[in-house]
Amino acid sequence: VKPWDDIVGQERVLDTLKRAVAVSRIAHAYLFHGPRGVGKCAVARGFASFLLCDAPREGESCGTCPSCTAFLAGKHPDFDFLAPPEGARQISIDAVREISRRAHLTPSRSARRVFLIDEAHAMTEEAANSLLKTLEEPPPGTVILLITFKPEALLSTVVSRTQPVFFRALPPSTCARLLVERHAVPPEEAEELAGLSIGAPGLALEIRADAAYQRRDEIIEALWNVEKRTLFEHAETLLEIARESGGSKTLESLREGIRSVLRIASTLLRDVAVLARTGDEGAVLNLSNRSRARAFADRWHWGLAETSLESLARARGALERNVSPSLVVEWWLSSWLRLRELRKR
Ligand SMILES: [Zn+2]
Repeated sequence: VKPWDDIVGQERVLDTLKRAVAVSRIAHAYLFHGPRGVGKCAVARGFASFLLCDAPREGESCGTCPSCTAFLAGKHPDFDFLAPPEGARQISIDAVREISRRAHLTPSRSARRVFLIDEAHAMTEEAANSLLKTLEEPPPGTVILLITFKPEALLSTVVSRTQPVFFRALPPSTCARLLVERHAVPPEEAEELAGLSIGAPGLALEIRADAAYQRRDEIIEALWNVEKRTLFEHAETLLEIARESGGSKTLESLREGIRSVLRIASTLLRDVAVLARTGDEGAVLNLSNRSRARAFADRWHWGLAETSLESLARARGALERNVSPSLVVEWWLSSWLRLRELRKR
């Protein structure tokens, strides 16, 4: 199997890269940017395997030569992959220094050395400055592939020394079809996930695996049923979902879990706002909860849905400022409760 055979919906990017290859215009550094989960990393890996392949054809790696075999087995000596370590948010200067050091070594099996840095925006400023030196004077045969969904967080000096390649989200129908055909997602759920991920299949699969999505009915129940006297009980349910979503027992993973719960809540409130304003059921993202969103929308002025989205944003902000997670959830739920009781006239 050739590495690019699996790519769906990024034909324009593949054409651009193949054209550059056909006229031997391979840059020393690329910046693959665009939304999360649309295939940037898969394309970058395919491109890397092409750059290292012994017998590439028509801008693609052959998939069978010793170099491709080593690459596919994750054992190519001239390929390095760098990303923030598990559970960490940053790429350290030491990790980037190691890349720079290896860039100056002679390739051991291919004609080039390829470095792939995923979530490049996670480099600390020192790390980025250290990479800059290698980008300014790249050793011959070096190709550096930077991937990010937050290009604005990169140093402009780094960006200016790369060839940018923009990845678009997939049309929702293409995204949904891919989820059905490649990942055996039931059609109705695939359609919902394509909407929630805004056309990003990788993100859709992440959402699907997340407890906050799997238990979204409980989140809605909490929003629908919460009363003053049951506030803490419902807050505890949301915290429990957040704990499951976050995975581990650390405070940071609990915060991450709450972000997921709030994200699900925000897509629901967005549906309510859209329904209340336009009545357009076709624009609803949470298909499985369409009737619930409709019931909310019927008794609300759309401005209230907008206000509730603002209070959600404030809860997120408090989380970033290290306010205790349980306090954030209780505050958010009580402000939600106050809003919910306001009826449209
Ligand atoms: Zn090959």
